[in-house]
Amino acid sequence: MPAPTQKIYYEDPHITDFTATVLSCEIDIQTGNLLLTLDKSAFFPEEGGQKADTGTINGLPVLDVQIKNEILTHVLPAGAADSLSVGDTVTGHVDWSQRFDFMQQHSGEHILSGLAHSHYGCNNVGFHLGYEEVTLDFDKVLNPEQVRELEKEVNRVIQMNLPVFISFPSKEDLSAMDYRSKIEIQGDVRIVEIPGVDVCACCAPHVDFTGQIGLLKVTSLQNHRGGVRLNILCGMRAIADYTNHQNYVTDVSVLLSAKPEKIGDAVRRLKEESQGRQERINSLQAKLLSQRLAALPDTIAGSQEPLILFEDKMDAKALRDAVNVMTEKYSGYCGLFSGSDEEGYFYIIGSKDMDCRNMANLLREKFGAKGGGSALMVQGTVVAPKDILAKIIKNC
Ligand SMILES: [Zn+2]
Repeated sequence: MPAPTQKIYYEDPHITDFTATVLSCEIDIQTGNLLLTLDKSAFFPEEGGQKADTGTINGLPVLDVQIKNEILTHVLPAGAADSLSVGDTVTGHVDWSQRFDFMQQHSGEHILSGLAHSHYGCNNVGFHLGYEEVTLDFDKVLNPEQVRELEKEVNRVIQMNLPVFISFPSKEDLSAMDYRSKIEIQGDVRIVEIPGVDVCACCAPHVDFTGQIGLLKVTSLQNHRGGVRLNILCGMRAIADYTNHQNYVTDVSVLLSAKPEKIGDAVRRLKEESQGRQERINSLQAKLLSQRLAALPDTIAGSQEPLILFEDKMDAKALRDAVNVMTEKYSGYCGLFSGSDEEGYFYIIGSKDMDCRNMANLLREKFGAKGGGSALMVQGTVVAPKDILAKIIKNC
């Protein structure tokens, strides 16, 4: 088996440029990409829930880095095979802004997990650090207030600018040590310690001082598998999120002509006004409809055709009341369709002497309508042009 790759990021997470020797160079038969192993590498692979570093090798983009049996495999685009072979010396370059961003998120996560552990006995049972999203799962439920308190405390730790120590303790020292992620690992165990806050076994690059994290914001909290899942943002990700939220609020604030801190009140007022207007519209429509119904002849002579009226979109209760008026007055099917050809119609059909379910079935068969009800009254929705609906119903 080839020798393990020397991990430069273990020794110093600040090293971004390195030279190394190509140990193997193979084409991935499934993707056509080039799989490259080196004697040493500064690329942190996808590991422990964290995505791989990005960067270049000999100027070619590194698409992914995987680790297996302590050997790092760098994935390069298919074309890279033409310019690389075993024994070559290559220069690698890790994208520092991505690396530093990962360091900020990961160190922030350690502080939060350490405090959640010491305060509430939570164990971190899931961690995902992607290029855009960071989630962590705890095995115990935390409420929003507890999470806000933890968030404040994390930020206090960030502001205290505590050192982050990396060490490889001996087996004896380890067995006496209390730390998170205590599992039996072959070889050296790497311990990341933030004094007084957290001690955890971890292989990833971390900031040197907590101040470099900048800030941590918990952006969501939800129940997950008997515990909770949190989304967090650190450093520039949190700043970008703040900027986005300022933009959202500014947009709404301008639209409402309200100060940012008053937009909630302004929206509540708008909703109340809109509800009032809607109630007025409903009552006017109901009035209009009852006038239309009153204007209908007392008997529709010689006709057993269904009586169907089409109305603009209106309140379901007013429609139901109107259908009741119609069925008292006329025999056969009496129906109201409210809506438009484009958006579809809400329908109510009633009858004192016919089985309305037949009409619901007809609409379902002919137009894929939804809905149902009793023999006396059916209701549902249908999307079809008014003319065609009227024709089919009249002929049944
Ligand atoms: Zn970690």
